[in-house]
Amino acid sequence: KHIKFFMDKSLKTFLKHAGKDYYNRSVNPPVVRASTILFKTMQELRKHQKDIAKNKDVEHWDYGRQGTQTTVQLQRLLRKLEGAHQVFLTPTGFSAVALSIMSLCRPGDEIVISDGVYRPTQKLADGLLKEFNIKAIWYNPNNFNDLKNKITKKTKLIYVENPGSNTFEMQDLGKIISLAKRKKIYTAIDNTWATAYFFKPLKLGFDISITSATKYYSGHSDVMGGTAAVNKKVYKKVWRYNHVSGYRLSPDDAYLIIRGLRTLDLRMDRHQENTKKVVNFLKTQRKISRILYPYKGKEYKLWKKYYSGASGLLSLIIKSNSKNSVYKFVNNLELFGIGYSWGGFESLAVYTDPVELGTRPYFKLEKNEHLVRLHIGLEDSKDLINDLRKSLRHIR
Ligand SMILES: *Cc1c(COP(=O)(O)O)cnc(C)c1O
Repeated sequence: KHIKFFMDKSLKTFLKHAGKDYYNRSVNPPVVRASTILFKTMQELRKHQKDIAKNKDVEHWDYGRQGTQTTVQLQRLLRKLEGAHQVFLTPTGFSAVALSIMSLCRPGDEIVISDGVYRPTQKLADGLLKEFNIKAIWYNPNNFNDLKNKITKKTKLIYVENPGSNTFEMQDLGKIISLAKRKKIYTAIDNTWATAYFFKPLKLGFDISITSATKYYSGHSDVMGGTAAVNKKVYKKVWRYNHVSGYRLSPDDAYLIIRGLRTLDLRMDRHQENTKKVVNFLKTQRKISRILYPYKGKEYKLWKKYYSGASGLLSLIIKSNSKNSVYKFVNNLELFGIGYSWGGFESLAVYTDPVELGTRPYFKLEKNEHLVRLHIGLEDSKDLINDLRKSLRHIR
């Protein structure tokens, strides 16, 4: 074997060593760009196809759309990180969401989905799914009984995002899994906020764990990608939909995500440490009326129950009669870039208004309340706190 797998090592060690290529004598796997994959004989090609059908751990696929040596290495890395049977790679995080839902649901099915999922997921559920006669039923993420009451004989899938997008509600995930198993309903979770480094959904019993690799997995704001990690139960269904939908992650992007994963543990630990310090500062600021992050109360308890760490994304609720002054707060931040996405090495801030939150019957903002989302990057936390302190003065 020219490539060692290091599967027996601890996760932190594995992330550093996986994919070392002794054949090419490089520390990292090569970027293999290919549509056609060559075989020596017809017999070899046929045998390879049979191995793939039996889900053997092959070195490459038989056509570029399924992937090349580079994406196979990324899949190996992610299988260990997620504790997955297989991990499907998609060109964006959102296509991993669509792949998961479309793989499992068919006309006449119902999907019970938590209020507070990522906005494009909301649009998919309320828009396109309806056209396929798949009904999305929203439940209150703060009320497990509400979820329970919305399960019917037609429920095919419980779709969760935890914590909630922008508003960070924490749910009792174990209860959701028990309910789903009892009723024989599939479960999928968008785990982009924590990543599998801080929480492994498949170990708890979820059928699919979705992550936008655009965020922490790649970690450098220079690539997009998505992952849908699956257990054995749903593997064939997802494989089938993936096969006919034509999703593919490019080998160049796969390479950048592998490079990001080398330092996932270091970055996540530092995001967490910095965010703790920033939250401790923000707690003392009277202009901030609420911090949406699992640092106290019910949210903290539920987070503690399932997660080994927390990432760098949070929201602030600011009370002010002047929206302009809240804009000023954001505009005057020196170290926080203004823009979407997150999970890179750098800090970001964005004002989010109710329209951007979408239809959210279970989350209310008063007229004088404003939501600002912050991503706490890997800068020196002292600089970040000073920057926030200076800029908060603009709020009236
Ligand atoms: C960003 C994000 C996505 C979509 O990922 P893209 O790579 O931008 O397509 C999905 N879910 C969550 C929670 C996200 O933050």
